[in-house]
Amino acid sequence: MPALAPRPELSIVVPVYNEADNLAPLVARLEPILDAHVSSWEIICVDDGSRDGTLAALRALNAQDSRISAISFSRNFGKEVAIAAGLDHANGEAVVIMDADLQHPPEVIPAFLAKWREGFLNVYGQRTDREGESPLKRNFAKAFYKLFASFGETELPEGAGDFRLLDRRVVEALRALPERARFSKGLYAWVGFRATGVPFAVADRAHGESKFRFRKLFSFAFDGISSFSTVPLKIATWLGVAIAIVATLTGLYFMVRTLLFGTDLPGFPSLIVSIMFFSGIQLISLGMIGEYVGRIFAEVKRRPLYLVGERVGFAQDDSAPPRGDVLPPGIG
Ligand code: UDP
Ligand code: MG
Repeated sequence: MPALAPRPELSIVVPVYNEADNLAPLVARLEPILDAHVSSWEIICVDDGSRDGTLAALRALNAQDSRISAISFSRNFGKEVAIAAGLDHANGEAVVIMDADLQHPPEVIPAFLAKWREGFLNVYGQRTDREGESPLKRNFAKAFYKLFASFGETELPEGAGDFRLLDRRVVEALRALPERARFSKGLYAWVGFRATGVPFAVADRAHGESKFRFRKLFSFAFDGISSFSTVPLKIATWLGVAIAIVATLTGLYFMVRTLLFGTDLPGFPSLIVSIMFFSGIQLISLGMIGEYVGRIFAEVKRRPLYLVGERVGFAQDDSAPPRGDVLPPGIG
């Protein structure tokens, strides 16, 4: 273990994927606010396998100010994993997680800090509107929150996302969760602690475009539901039970009818349709089970959550975080 440096009061964790143009403006806006409101701070950027000049921009920022450091993944691992890595490397008494694209206004951080100093440990930004988003994405998000609320045992506060302040105790609780499926929004809620919301308006993206296209959003949503609820499996079970009951009743009906009136041959269309219908239901149910089995597989492989290709501004012999590994020299 390296000698423990005193903890900064606040760490800012920023997942970054192809945001070279946004980093300098973000830091320029953050710094005066941090200087004015906390005694000491650090910014930790997690470069999630960017393919543009992000890493170079991070090196330049670190050269200007050693309070800005970065870890660079060996490839793109996704935003959720980038956040987990940021929490592994953050030392602050409190940690603020925010996007790199300036959609999360740094001006809200003092309000987070005020709530934290009041004694709240889990202070989340609550978006007051989703106007910057397409109606499709907006409605999708709405439907997701509804579904999650009715399926899950975990309650997600409406409009709460990744922009939030976590006390050290919450960070340690999150870091202790061993799962690879990191649906952070659910995990923040699952760990509990004294939580409160601070409303904020989401700004437009400063440069570049969103990395979450619709398909990615869809699989993200299913990940969220499947890691917090087994209701989809129960739906398959109950659907099976309901269909079996209907089939039994139909069978009885035909038996009685044949005994009373004899048999007649026609009825192929209905036969074909019902066979197709039930095969469909079976395949859907199997697929649903498969999704869960796949997730179990991903968990039991116990691969590291992420691989670090390079650290900028960290001692290279940094004690290895529990879930991340540094590639041996010569690889990556
Ligand atoms: N991001 C990331 N890895 C990814 C995709 C996104 O670290 O694979 C980061 C991205 O750089 C940004 C944040 O996650 O800082 C939010 O991404 P984005 O703005 O694309 O999402 P949106 O705001 O549209 O939900
Ligand atoms: Mg964004």
